[in-house]
Amino acid sequence: MNAAIETLRKILQLESQKGFQNNCVVGGLDKAGPMWRQQAAQAALPAGFVGTLATGLANYPSLPEGRRPQAVAEMLAQLELLAAGVPVAKPPAATQLRPATQQGAKQPEHQSTNKKQRTPPAERDRPAVQRPVPAAAAVPTEPDPNMHLDSPLTVIPGVGPKFAEVLAKLGLSRLGDTLHYFPHRYLDYSALKPINRIEYGDQATIIGTVREVSGRKVKGGQLHMVRAVIGDSTGEIECTWFNQPWLQDQLRTSLQIQVSGRVDLQLGRLVLSSPDWDEVDSEALHTGRIVPIYNLTKGLGGKQLRRWMHAAVYGVAPRASDPLPAPLREKLQMQSLPAALAAAHFPQNQQQLDAARQRLAFDELFALQLNLRQQRAEWQAQPGHALAEPAGWLASAIGTLAFPLTAAQQRVLADLLADMAQPVPMKRLIQGDVGSGKTVVAALALALAVRNGVQGAIMAPTSILAEQHFRTMRTLLAAFPQLDLGGADMPAVRLLQGSTPATERAAIDEGLRTGTVKVLVGTHAVIQAQVHFAKLGLVVVDEQHRFGVLQRAALREKGMHPHLLVMTATPIPRSLALTIYGDLDLSVIDEMPPGRQQVQTHVVPPKERERAYGLVRKEVAGGHQAYIICPLVEDSDSPDTKAVVEEHERLQRSVFPELRLGLLHGRLRPAEKDAIMQAFRAGEIQILVATSVIEVGVDVPNATIMLIEGANRFGLAQMHQLRGRVGRGADQSYCLLLPEPGSAGAAAARNNSNERLKIMESTSDGFVLADKDLAMRGPGDFLGTQQAGFVDLQMARLSDLKLIEMARREADLLFKQDPLLTLPEHQQLAALVAQSAATASGDVS
Ligand code: ADP
Ligand code: MG
Repeated sequence: MNAAIETLRKILQLESQKGFQNNCVVGGLDKAGPMWRQQAAQAALPAGFVGTLATGLANYPSLPEGRRPQAVAEMLAQLELLAAGVPVAKPPAATQLRPATQQGAKQPEHQSTNKKQRTPPAERDRPAVQRPVPAAAAVPTEPDPNMHLDSPLTVIPGVGPKFAEVLAKLGLSRLGDTLHYFPHRYLDYSALKPINRIEYGDQATIIGTVREVSGRKVKGGQLHMVRAVIGDSTGEIECTWFNQPWLQDQLRTSLQIQVSGRVDLQLGRLVLSSPDWDEVDSEALHTGRIVPIYNLTKGLGGKQLRRWMHAAVYGVAPRASDPLPAPLREKLQMQSLPAALAAAHFPQNQQQLDAARQRLAFDELFALQLNLRQQRAEWQAQPGHALAEPAGWLASAIGTLAFPLTAAQQRVLADLLADMAQPVPMKRLIQGDVGSGKTVVAALALALAVRNGVQGAIMAPTSILAEQHFRTMRTLLAAFPQLDLGGADMPAVRLLQGSTPATERAAIDEGLRTGTVKVLVGTHAVIQAQVHFAKLGLVVVDEQHRFGVLQRAALREKGMHPHLLVMTATPIPRSLALTIYGDLDLSVIDEMPPGRQQVQTHVVPPKERERAYGLVRKEVAGGHQAYIICPLVEDSDSPDTKAVVEEHERLQRSVFPELRLGLLHGRLRPAEKDAIMQAFRAGEIQILVATSVIEVGVDVPNATIMLIEGANRFGLAQMHQLRGRVGRGADQSYCLLLPEPGSAGAAAARNNSNERLKIMESTSDGFVLADKDLAMRGPGDFLGTQQAGFVDLQMARLSDLKLIEMARREADLLFKQDPLLTLPEHQQLAALVAQSAATASGDVS
């Protein structure tokens, strides 16, 4: 028996024999604390437990006498847990009584003292399976001779046909499946806290005894709530769960459980609402230290599954064949796949877990990168249209513009020309912050296509933007030399949207088929099945992140093998762009047209709304125009519309009665939207009251002020896009952010959004904002749901740019050497890449 445990056990037993008078040691139990803590530390007992016990001792004298028996009982119970986990010569028999909890303290009479009573019936038939998890997640080198990747789960000791069925519900049917059934989180026993030291907002893990359990209906019977009070020797905390009535039976009084969750505040008291919980696993406590927590299903206990996972993972991990060739693994100093798998399930410490994750994440990213390269190679294996520039044509086209191109625009244009001159389909991404002038570059590329006798298409995510592009293209193309667009009406340049009337649509279809329509501008209607081009040579996709992967794939199918140009204002870091758009070449417009002034951004407290209106009035008086953006509303039927309609009415009636206001929202018919935008562009509307529909791409340089209501509801990337609607001309522009007043959301949420607003004030650099957004919200949110399928990586994080870079570099090298992965040493890798292609929905351009 461990001496530290034994010492404290004797003290506590003596205390209870002496009637809880705090006189079993000289000076009181609290004096024993520091000494014991030292002894326990030397014995390397888990710090969390030691802390809890030491605090329990320190607090003991100040406890009311009535509470002392319980405190002693709990300390003894924790000692017993520790003892059970400490490796001793003779493992405790499964039927051994727990003597410590029987001493002194009064125990609830229905307490289970027999460990075996808690095990499910099926397990009782197999007394031999309680083997402890080995201490070290040592690399398993020898596979279990009876375990193969495709063995049924019934080869795991303790798993019979009935449990195999239960496990199948988790997607586990062969032993090999268990290798990738990773824990959804880990419990680090060394990070345990005594209950009296947890604080509001913590992500806390505690170990305690269930002291009370009750269940009742709340909210007029709609919800069932289970409430449990969990205590340790330092204090107690309430936990609540909703609509899990069965917990009332599972959480028996005096059960020792570990509970993890976010600490909340309810009616001034700390609570854990719907925390994860599990019975304390005394074996894991000492052995793993970091204990994997797996998702469970009905009829399966956490300890049980963990034990089986351990048997399975250790049994078959050595059989997992490593997709990374050994020389590469050595070069990158990565561990073997079997070792990484074992450590990802049963890490010995945090470093081991990190290394395992790193290795597994690398595999995912590496496969993804190779997949992207293969896709691109396939795309470019098809012959494309070589579009040459007739001598001097480009210079004279540029000469018709109202401004000289920036150096960045010229550079990007040169990239495009070089690509399009090849008989290989281009795949290029232009990344340029809002207002950097991507449209004119696209127009020149489209004109070059037309000049070469092929058709071009440009797709935008919203009808407002499609309509604006249509206008811009007509203006620009009309001035460019040597394009035969059918005369003043330009019937060769057409707009196609969902709302285009059937007769006009038929005419466009006809024109596309015969080739008289040369440039098609539109929304996703452009890729609908019935649209057929005679000779599609170039496709431009604007504001790419709004388009789904499948839509882009469908568009590509349209043409022979058109050149593809994707434009995005999403200022993601380069290496992230290369992951997400890894099959595209990247050109960056990293320079704004000259004369732009930074948009002055201010957070205006709601109390000072009048001042904000004053500034709007002043700008309008100076001949400029304004946007007022209404907040996102989420909680009723088409609420954005209602809110913006009411706000428009209120502003027109009682704030700006003397000014001409317009209203724009997503529910308007396209013709109405058109009319409003046209009136705004023409200056007939002075203030445009709008929802965030204007977020993308709208270009009215005379607008110099934007007021964003409910700014706290918008994400950084979205606010940046909104703000990009002003500051598009030479005049000083303003962006006023009005957070909503009052109680919306918890304090924490408010802090977060205030921080966002401050960041908006401090920078207009899209890259900085994107980085912050990425850090605050994670890549899934940041990239939007469209990319969600793609972001479906188990281990890799898109914020891990270093690892992404590494995967990209290695993929490049390998691709040069063996593009189709046909070499024998790349067979595992080929399989992994194929699998990655399937889960990443294949096409990411
Ligand atoms: P974005 O890159 O956000 O799509 P736009 O293409 O809409 O930006 O361009 C923003 C504004 O800048 C437009 O009004 C456009 O006419 C103008 N612009 C583009 N290039 C230049 C330039 N080189 N010099 C001056 N103004 C330019
Ligand atoms: Mg644009």
